[in-house]
Amino acid sequence: MSISFTEAFAWGPKAKTGPVAGFLAHRNTFEAGFPACLSLLWQRPGAAGSPACPTCRSQGNRAGQKTMVPVMNVEKLDERMTLFDIDGFTTSWLIRDRRNILIESGYPVTVPELLDGLRKVSMTPRDIDFIALTHVHLDHAGGAGYIARENPDLKVLVHEKGARHLIDPSKLMESVKKAYGSGHSPEGDMIPIPERQVMAVGSGDSIDLGESRLEVHPTPGHAKHHLVYFDTRSGSLFSGDALGGKLKGLPNFLMSPPSDYDKESAKQSIDAIKAMKPRRICFTHCGPFATDELDGFYDTLKKKHDLWSECIREIACENPEADPEEMFEHFIERNKELENYPELHFSFRLSVKGILIYLKKTGKVPGYVS
Ligand SMILES: [Zn+2]
Repeated sequence: MSISFTEAFAWGPKAKTGPVAGFLAHRNTFEAGFPACLSLLWQRPGAAGSPACPTCRSQGNRAGQKTMVPVMNVEKLDERMTLFDIDGFTTSWLIRDRRNILIESGYPVTVPELLDGLRKVSMTPRDIDFIALTHVHLDHAGGAGYIARENPDLKVLVHEKGARHLIDPSKLMESVKKAYGSGHSPEGDMIPIPERQVMAVGSGDSIDLGESRLEVHPTPGHAKHHLVYFDTRSGSLFSGDALGGKLKGLPNFLMSPPSDYDKESAKQSIDAIKAMKPRRICFTHCGPFATDELDGFYDTLKKKHDLWSECIREIACENPEADPEEMFEHFIERNKELENYPELHFSFRLSVKGILIYLKKTGKVPGYVS
C-alpha cells in the first residue's frame, strides 16, 4: 500500500494550525466552539496575503460571531445531471438513469447538506445505486459511509488502492486527528463501509447505469489512487483533483498535495484526459466548465506543473533550511500574481509542500526521508 496518510496530514508542530488544517477547512468551527474561523489561526503573522476560510470565504471574525453561511446550492444541468455545490468549494454530482449515481461525497460534516440537496430533488440515499469516488481524500470520500449506511444495496466505487481505507478508515482518521491535536476533527469522522458495499474499479471498467455508461480512468499524479469518470453520453468528465481546481471567476489552480503528488504522472493524466475530448469538465472544486471556455487549458496546466516545480526546486536549493511556511512565502514572492487570490493560499501552501516532497523523492532536491 503506497498511500501514506500520516505523511499527507502530519505537518509537524505546525499541523494543528497549519495549512493542512486549512485544507480540511472548517464550516463548523463556530459550532464546535472555536473562537474564530481557523483560517485566521493558520495565518502566520506577516505571511503574504490573508487567507480566507476556503469554505465560508470570509476572512474570519475574531469576535467569534457566526458569520459562515452554508451555501448548499442545487443546480440541474440537464435532465440527467444535477450538481450539489455543498459548501462553495466542494461539489457532488448526480446522474440519474435506471441506476442513479452520485460522484463524490464531500466531507463527513457536510453530509446533512448533501442529504438536503438530495431531498430538494426528491431523492434519498435509498434512490442512489452507486457513489463513485475519485480518490479517498476526506473532502471527496468523507461522506460516503454515511450515505452507504442508509442503503445497504448501495455500492461505493473507488480505486483498488483506496478501497481498504473505506472499509477501515481508522488510519486515515488517526492522521487527521494527529493534525488537529486532542482528537478533534472539525470535518468529522469517516465511518467504515461494509466490504460488500465497496467495489474496486480501474482501467477499462465502465459502470452500466441503464441508458448510459460511466467510464473509469486511472489518473495518477494528484494521488496514486486517483480516478476520473467519463460520462460518454454528455461528454462530461468528472475530474476530481486531476486537473486542479477551478472556482468561478478564479484561474485554474494546481492541486499537488503531499504525499504522493507526482509531476510526470500528473502531466500524463492531463494528456489522457485531453485525449478523451470531454465537452464539459466537472471540477470537484468547483462546478462545471465547458471545455471551449477553457482556451489552451490543458497545455497551460501542464506548463504550470513544470513552472511551479522548477520554482520550488530553486527556492529549496537557495534556502535549504526554510520551513514549509517560509517556502510558501518565497513562492508567493516569486509569483506575485498569486497574491491576488488569498482565498486559494491554503491550497497553494499544500501544493508547495507536495511538490517539495516530490522533488526530494525524485532526488531533484536533497533531503528525502522515507
Ligand atoms: Zn485530493
